[in-house]
Amino acid sequence: MKIIEILKNGKLNVSCELFPPKMGSELIKAKTVVKEMAKLSPSYMSVTYGAGGTNCENTVEIADEIQNVNGITALAHLTCVASERPKIKEVLTELKNKNIQNILALRGDLPADPSVKLSTSYQHACDLMQEIKKNGDFCIGGACYPESHPESPSYEKDIEYLKIKAESGCEFLTTQMFFDNNILYNFMFRLLKKGIDLPIVAGIMPVTNAKQINRICSLSGTALPPRFRAIADKFAHNPAAMKQAGIAYATEQMIDLFANGVNNVHIYTMNQPDIAGQIMQNLSEIIHQ
Ligand code: FAD
Repeated sequence: MKIIEILKNGKLNVSCELFPPKMGSELIKAKTVVKEMAKLSPSYMSVTYGAGGTNCENTVEIADEIQNVNGITALAHLTCVASERPKIKEVLTELKNKNIQNILALRGDLPADPSVKLSTSYQHACDLMQEIKKNGDFCIGGACYPESHPESPSYEKDIEYLKIKAESGCEFLTTQMFFDNNILYNFMFRLLKKGIDLPIVAGIMPVTNAKQINRICSLSGTALPPRFRAIADKFAHNPAAMKQAGIAYATEQMIDLFANGVNNVHIYTMNQPDIAGQIMQNLSEIIHQ
């Protein structure tokens, strides 16, 4: 099924993100995670892709496992920052062969290693979207950043580029994580003002350990609201308490989103079915109303 049909079904949809294993030996473990996550009956499941095209076989393999073994619609991520056209075409053919119809088309982060060769075929995610459009009947999604992409010259410019994504075949947008829903509402208002009315899938990260908090602060530029900081300050040293508080915070964020008309939420699960499961359990009556 195409994800755009799910996003427009008028129901409350919760989807989950997984990352693929790094080495072949971990594949069996990853497939167990897929199976556990599938038991939660998410609307669809996405699987990430290495920025430099590393590990892409496992992305296709896990997408295949999600959809063709566990019967859940799969969304395969695909990045182009260090891949040339023949490689991208090869992955598209593999996805078609597995009947994977949905792709989240991304540029990928610029490699920190200067020896990694940047793509000469593609510069931005929109270039990849145009390529995908030419090479099959895929439903294409893209990334968006309610707090602006860190490299972007301005908030306004970042939104203008989303318009180019829409014109390049992008049918929906999934957001970077955010911890203050007002930031998302403000962003959605600005998109509409610019005439961008693609379905927005709100990306929610349950922050359940101190390591994640440090990583978020140093990498993503995502703001930590005072309410979240207070929780982290109080509970980060106590793993069980932090996990419980992180699940509660994510649950509350999702309830507020649903109550305010954001029907589609994507959980960054960090491959932890128990955390995604507890959130789904907290929302059981809400999702199935
Ligand atoms: P782009 O849309 O190309 O944007 C990159 C920068 O260029 C931005 O600053 C933007 O403002 C600017 N820009 C965009 N279009 C234009 C244009 N036409 N002209 C000029 N400037 C432009 N990374 C991975 O490696 N693997 C994954 O699986 C993965 N999944 C992700 C899923 C989600 C939902 C999100 C939000 C991010 C994900 N990322 C992933 C991270 C992502 O690759 C990085 O954030 C990356 O730096 C930007 O990717 P993009 O697709 O948004 O790039």
